[in-house]
Amino acid sequence: MPKNRLADIHILHVASCLCITLLNHSCHEKNVAQKQEVFRRNGLCLQIQNPEALDTFSRSRLVATFFDRYLKFREQFNPNAPGTITVAFINGIGAPGLGSSVRGRIYLYSSYLRNDPEPLQETLCHELMHQVLLYHNDVEKWLIEGIADYGNYYYGVTTLAWRRDSFNHTPGSDVSWYSGYQHTAKFLMWLDRQYPGFTRSLHKACLSGAYKRQTYFVDHTNKTIEQLWTSFSKSNFSMELPGK
Ligand SMILES: [Zn+2]
Repeated sequence: MPKNRLADIHILHVASCLCITLLNHSCHEKNVAQKQEVFRRNGLCLQIQNPEALDTFSRSRLVATFFDRYLKFREQFNPNAPGTITVAFINGIGAPGLGSSVRGRIYLYSSYLRNDPEPLQETLCHELMHQVLLYHNDVEKWLIEGIADYGNYYYGVTTLAWRRDSFNHTPGSDVSWYSGYQHTAKFLMWLDRQYPGFTRSLHKACLSGAYKRQTYFVDHTNKTIEQLWTSFSKSNFSMELPGK
């Protein structure tokens, strides 16, 4: 990784981090080869830059996953999400995650994903969820990452390690509601169980700008988020694997 790239990257979460958000992606353009493949299906367009980073089989699997899962993400969460997505493979050596996103563009780090097909599918889907979560600026990063993993769990691809190691057991004292990713995702699923439709309403409020970080949880549950997390962490709540 060029030295100056690190300065352009804002690390959202260190623990269990699969995703980072780029504050300035122009530096990436220098690293992206000009070769590009374009695929169109069902009104969606996928552009792959630097496609030779993957072998033919992995690439065709990635293309199939894109058209299958992104269609679902858009249907379920935001039909107005970009219909054209560019997936750019870059080296990514030294980055703390496996991929990153800006609107309409996903970076996948081939140095980590090239030979590991299952995380590749999961990372692609996690980043595709970011393409449908076009929230206003006052939505916290932990919540965005939690809803991204929430949507990916139901409609995308999650690895066995994701489910086994840090999802399907009682949360430890080292995680909380603000840990994001799978930890917040499972908390949201528990909230759905207590307050049916909670996460869908929360998502809509984030999209419309109605979400207010200081008051949303109290307004909709009459409990603070800390009280809710305490109840959740004592609940032994577990999820069935999604039927796909
Ligand atoms: Zn993310």
